[in-house]
Amino acid sequence: MKKITEILNARDVTVSLELFPPKAGAGFENIKKIVKDCAEISPSFMSVTFGAGGGGSQNTLEVVKDVQNYGVTALAHLVAVSLGRDEISNLLRDLKFAGIKNIMALRGDLPHGVTENTGYYRYASDLIAEIHKHGDFCVGGGCHPECHPEAATLHQDIENLKIKIDAGCNFLTTQMFFDNNILYNFMFRLLKNGIDVPVVAGIMPVTNAKQIERIFTLAGASVPPRFKAIVDRFCDNPKAMRQAGIAYATEQIIDLIANGINNIHIYTMNKPDVAKNIMDNLSEIFV
Ligand code: FAD
Repeated sequence: MKKITEILNARDVTVSLELFPPKAGAGFENIKKIVKDCAEISPSFMSVTFGAGGGGSQNTLEVVKDVQNYGVTALAHLVAVSLGRDEISNLLRDLKFAGIKNIMALRGDLPHGVTENTGYYRYASDLIAEIHKHGDFCVGGGCHPECHPEAATLHQDIENLKIKIDAGCNFLTTQMFFDNNILYNFMFRLLKNGIDVPVVAGIMPVTNAKQIERIFTLAGASVPPRFKAIVDRFCDNPKAMRQAGIAYATEQIIDLIANGINNIHIYTMNKPDVAKNIMDNLSEIFV
């Protein structure tokens, strides 16, 4: 299996998909079908998230193994929140043993009501430095074009991002955004600050009303008026909302590619049908 940086540097346009694993104790039947359906779309790679708190950590491992069984490069997420040094070390050993070469290293979402990370590694950059000690991994990190909610300013957040790059972060994937100008401004600031690793643009197709509140509170993404009008008009009509959400995401992706952002990551929310619709819309663009 390839390293993600090889994929990002080798191809004109890449489209990758993100899945989340079942919760601790839940079955694998559903996710196995989702992995198969996503693999059939032939994405550039597939990432699998990690539940903060570590309860389902083995589930991430099981799902990335399944992804690679389909011949698709897998990117395993790993978070620092709440995990001890030995737990991280054991997880890295298991990932290495399973032939996983790519890790997305994150601080992790803080559990509800918690204000500080109690894990051994405080920031994603601490985790990234540790991962490199455990093997020849390609390590990605997250970034927040609209500024991480805990950072005082975007300038400060980008200064902290530089620490992440210096710790060995090989590529970045953005938090979702709904206005491409926000990403273009962010890319300009990254380059101005000497950050030139590949950046993968994270796109979230919003296809149902339930997702909406969660996205805007948790991810801190702002809502452009054009997107708000779509949600206001269609959120009570599930089929129309789905169609409009797919169209909006497709348009965002086409605009990004037209402006030279070649690496796109779709937050699929475990909906292969939505990912397939978008990929069909890009059939002559993503070949
Ligand atoms: P960090 O880079 O550690 O940053 C957190 C805050 O600390 C920021 O405000 C930053 O400015 C500041 N900071 C960073 N380094 C320093 C430093 N050295 N000194 C002082 N301040 C510093 N969450 C999950 O639980 N599981 C997942 O699988 C998951 N996948 C994600 C995938 C992507 C692509 C993204 C963008 C996010 C994902 N998240 C996931 C959410 C993520 O965990 C949260 O956004 C979290 O709040 C921050 O994670 P981070 O890795 O960006 O943190």
